Amino acid sequence: MENNMLVFKNCFKTINELFDLQSNFHIIAGPCSIESLEQMEQTAQFLVKNGLKFIRGGAFKPRTSPYEFQGLGLEGLKIIDFIRKKYKLLTVSEILDPRDLDVALEYIDIIQIGSRNMHNYALLKEVGKTNHPILLKRGMMATVKEFLSAAEYIVLNGNTNLILCERGIRTFEDSTRNTLDISCIAIVKQETSLPIIADLSHSLGRTDIALSIAKAIKSIGADGIMVELHPNSKKAQSDSKQQMNFKEFEKILATLSVLQ
Ligand code: PEP
Ligand code: MN
Repeated sequence: MENNMLVFKNCFKTINELFDLQSNFHIIAGPCSIESLEQMEQTAQFLVKNGLKFIRGGAFKPRTSPYEFQGLGLEGLKIIDFIRKKYKLLTVSEILDPRDLDVALEYIDIIQIGSRNMHNYALLKEVGKTNHPILLKRGMMATVKEFLSAAEYIVLNGNTNLILCERGIRTFEDSTRNTLDISCIAIVKQETSLPIIADLSHSLGRTDIALSIAKAIKSIGADGIMVELHPNSKKAQSDSKQQMNFKEFEKILATLSVLQ
């Protein structure tokens, strides 16, 4: 790693201080896209019942095809804002455009910068100028070094309240949607003090092998996991193949809770 790479300190600090989170393995779950209030209510009730603190859901969706569901936009943010207040959950949601930063600051606890925008330096600089918690996903074709350089953009602009997310990279392997690069987690842990979580859903693109991979993610020392969870995953408007239903997710939670 380059010498001028900052050593990141005290990440998750704001989140820990404000919300008194005790856990050292954070689970962020929720649908790929916010589709309706009812969908988010059902998800939130499930999360609260299981003692989880975070809910995810996209309002601005970075879809490969412009003909696919693009998300509810501001209406989606208003839904997730209502949900976080009602259920006292912390929300994670993505923005694609620096022009949406002001509404994001108002409605989202942790602003996600997705894989497709890891190289969007204008966006990285803008979120870097805030003090708001940011979840930065690895670009699907970025090396670990490029990933850390993107993180550096945010930190250099003053925001150290940063969480990284390994979400799989593109390789020749097509039995999973992306290849989860577990080494990235070990390298980030060794080279920086940034927290890093792994996205089980976008890396695998399937749910049938999720349990064993979740165990591997926890064992390697990741700070948490992100999972797409939907009350009716077959009917989901985006990423339906990889979203878990409540039963599947309960198994993951039970296994992770006994794993040291
Ligand atoms: C997401 O988390 O909703 C998403 C689009 O993920 P990624 O940026 O990793 O593809
Ligand atoms: Mn998705």
